[in-house]
Amino acid sequence: MTTRVEPAAIEVHSVHKSYGTQHILDGVSLTVRPREVVVILGPSGSGKSTLLRVINHLEKPEAGYVSLNGELIGVRWQGDRLRELSERAILAQRGRIGFVFQNFNLFPHLTVLANVAAAPVATGALRKAEAEELARTLLARVGLGDRTGAYPRQLSGGQQQRVAIARAMALRPGVILLDEPTSALDPELVGEVLSVIKDLAGSGTTLVIVTHEIGFAREVADRVVFLDGGRVVEQGSPAEVLDNPRHPRTREFLSKVL
Ligand code: ADP
Ligand code: MG
Repeated sequence: MTTRVEPAAIEVHSVHKSYGTQHILDGVSLTVRPREVVVILGPSGSGKSTLLRVINHLEKPEAGYVSLNGELIGVRWQGDRLRELSERAILAQRGRIGFVFQNFNLFPHLTVLANVAAAPVATGALRKAEAEELARTLLARVGLGDRTGAYPRQLSGGQQQRVAIARAMALRPGVILLDEPTSALDPELVGEVLSVIKDLAGSGTTLVIVTHEIGFAREVADRVVFLDGGRVVEQGSPAEVLDNPRHPRTREFLSKVL
């Protein structure tokens, strides 16, 4: 019998991050397997956004490290110390990790098509015509094939977030991080965005999603991770964490959001 272990898509290893005297991530470790969908839950201020930003090195941890398919992100070993990579090398790595923000962060002066096509052209991955063809395909997939010429301000929040998801997909990243992708939306627009994320989850892209949508977590997550006070308090299948939480802090949190 072989006991071959699949390489982790993401490994977060004992990460510490402080702002001033505030310890925001207090030794967080997390392994995300290829194709896994991990939902991160936790109260406001527990460090969820900081954790996602550490994963793609938008924030630099004071201790610990993150690796993607075994490759360190943002740093390299020099002897027994971690040294920061060049800005150029960090940008190249970041292109392999998609990020979807709460507030969409689309370029307001670019059309929907150009928003999605921009990154693969900027990184040199595709020529303009190829990138636009890919953008049309991705926009059709998120249900916006007829809005390619629109500007972000002409779209609803739900449509803008679907563009942002298509944009994250355009670099064909192995992993997409989503930080409260539906929190800024009017309630009636949440469903269309969750349905696009569900489709993405089904396509085998590794996803790490911060959300307060418990029903959605139950449906799509392979694993739920509860973060509190900068620590992973508990994790497990949705049935374990959402229906039978072991830790009092998880119970307290769920009683407020359910
Ligand atoms: P969450 O996403 O779980 O609500 P965050 O990771 O955004 O939590 O933030 C955790 C804590 O870190 C909060 O108290 C927040 O005020 C603080 N924080 C986040 N970013 C910064 C920053 N750039 N400078 C100072 N404090 C920050
Ligand atoms: Mg946050």
